[in-house]
Amino acid sequence: MSGQELHNHIELTFAARAENVALARLLVAALAAAADPTLAELEEVKVAVSEAVSNAIIHGYGGDAARQVQVSAELDGRLLLVSVRDEGVGIRDIELAMSPSYSTEEEHLGLGFAFMTGFMDDVQVMSASQQGTTVRLAKHFAE
Ligand code: ATP
Ligand code: MG
Repeated sequence: MSGQELHNHIELTFAARAENVALARLLVAALAAAADPTLAELEEVKVAVSEAVSNAIIHGYGGDAARQVQVSAELDGRLLLVSVRDEGVGIRDIELAMSPSYSTEEEHLGLGFAFMTGFMDDVQVMSASQQGTTVRLAKHFAE
């Protein structure tokens, strides 16, 4: 495959509805599949994207399905870059939010960020109160 074919990107904007978590996960996985990752790598990407999108819907927008989540994904050779963005409530203390088992919701385990950092090579979180949150995920597929 030529380098050109392995430089691809998608932009998705979708309603903040739970069923769209699977949609986003599948579309990003389909993009990543062109790099011929292992099944394990692909599963890791799916989990990380699901966690980030779920957070945008559940925490960012508090379940308000009228809001929109934006996901962009880029495949550059064996490097996958994913950005998940909401314009919701934002995260006051990012370091605290990212610590394992921390959750602001009683019925949640607080493991979303732990999965993201465990399964991806890099996780960057940018957030501002009442302006929203952007989570950038990067993964380099093994040669
Ligand atoms: P789990 O993912 O295990 O269901 P969780 O979502 O609470 O539980 P994390 O995904 O690790 O755990 O997120 C930790 C905390 O960070 C959340 O409880 C929430 O307070 C905050 N958070 C995460 N993403 C966002 C977001 N997009 N907008 C606002 N707050 C967020
Ligand atoms: Mg979560």
